[in-house]
Amino acid sequence: MQTLEKTHPAFLKLQTLLAEINDIQSAASLLHWDQATYMPPKGAAARGRQLATLRQIAHEKFTNGAIAQLLDDLRSYEADLPYDSDEASLIRVTRRQCDRASKIPAEFTARFSQLRSDAYQAWATARPANNFAAVQPYLERMVDLSRELANFFPGYNHIADPLIEFSDYGMTAQSIRRVFAELREQLVPVVQAITAQPPVDDSCLRQFFPEAQQLAFSYKVLAQMGYDLERGRQDKTLHPFMTNFSIDDVRITTRVYENDLGQGLFSTIHEMGHAFYEMGVDPAFEGNLLAAGVSAGVHESQSRLWENLVGRSRPFWSYFYPHLQAMFPTQFKDVSLETFYRAINKVARSLIRTDADEVTYNLHVMIRFDLELDLLDGTLAVRDLPEAWNERYRSDLGVVPESDREGVLQDVHWFTGRIGGMFQGYTLGNLMSAQFFEAALADIPTIPTQISQGNFQPLHNWLKDKIYRHGCKYTADETVQRVTGKPLSTAAFMRYIHQKYGALYSL
Ligand code: ZN
Repeated sequence: MQTLEKTHPAFLKLQTLLAEINDIQSAASLLHWDQATYMPPKGAAARGRQLATLRQIAHEKFTNGAIAQLLDDLRSYEADLPYDSDEASLIRVTRRQCDRASKIPAEFTARFSQLRSDAYQAWATARPANNFAAVQPYLERMVDLSRELANFFPGYNHIADPLIEFSDYGMTAQSIRRVFAELREQLVPVVQAITAQPPVDDSCLRQFFPEAQQLAFSYKVLAQMGYDLERGRQDKTLHPFMTNFSIDDVRITTRVYENDLGQGLFSTIHEMGHAFYEMGVDPAFEGNLLAAGVSAGVHESQSRLWENLVGRSRPFWSYFYPHLQAMFPTQFKDVSLETFYRAINKVARSLIRTDADEVTYNLHVMIRFDLELDLLDGTLAVRDLPEAWNERYRSDLGVVPESDREGVLQDVHWFTGRIGGMFQGYTLGNLMSAQFFEAALADIPTIPTQISQGNFQPLHNWLKDKIYRHGCKYTADETVQRVTGKPLSTAAFMRYIHQKYGALYSL
């Protein structure tokens, strides 16, 4: 946005208004970060109200007509600008979001925000207590309000479509079903071939790993991979997430299990991938709507790329394993790199999505996606959800949760977000991550060697240049096409799965 001499006054005014709204939203995000990290439990009621108030103010400022008027005033200015200029992009993205937000009454936003806080708090106590009955009324309200939200956007084919579009603009229930069906058809035989073999021994990951040392090691990994601790920090939470209050304050959270090394370590790398994206946005976008990831799918492509294609790769561990052995000398004294590598890539039919391997992970996502559609279109009642969940795990993954804690209560999304459009981004992200990584390797074939030397900069810079710096200037479809020269498909992901797991399991 350097072309000030020809900038329209309405554009400058637009930037100012957007920055003010961004400040309010950042304050809300900070309150939410605090709620999920350090806030004492009894602060919850007031915090829910505070968040609802701030979100309502932000929503009103965005939709009170002032921004819509500026966008109208800017139509001819926009028409003369190149599509991919920063100015045209900001106007375009603001118009899309403003049109959408204007259809949602501020009163609804406050009501919905309040429910999200209440439901999150209910879930936080119900999950450890394995008490689905305690969250059932909140989930029922959540289905109702999610439907109400969708119905502000009439003309859809499936009631989930407007909700999917919030997260993954350009996608619909139908288009996602098509991609998922294609993916499932290719994945199921691989899962069957692998799980027919004797299970990999991953007991080396399930020893006792004191929390302090796990956190120390994860800081070492973060620093080496290039997470800037002057612009971010890591804290503990119940369900890890990334949040940001500016391009220069991008925080991640983690949770550590002392009897399971993988959980904390890989969720740290996952959230760091999200943070890399937000930290890599062009500083000129600070405070405006372009300073954000493109979509849930593209965001997830970055967390999953760093977590899996990098963090679970052989080159990565040929560098880090000696460091891990130094941090946990008794635990890994007699464990070879090969044994460790096989353990962190163990494929198994399992219950917990965030803990699932790369091969079965997408099957977990498809279950949630289908249940969301059923809840929204009324085919499934909330009271029948635990049973439906367990039935799908039996048929799709061949395992049944013994408790709702390991079943329907495991994910926070339906309690803090909405029902509809909350999960497909993970699988879209997996597909994109492989397609992006393939393109990066074609440009820089030495990336694996660099990683094995602890050098993550060339890959990081490539991603920054191709994806991060653009913020949300382009749509997900445009991003995939621009970066890889092709539309999104399952091909690169399946090539990656066949190559990596074909070698691991001699398929
Ligand atoms: Zn993520």
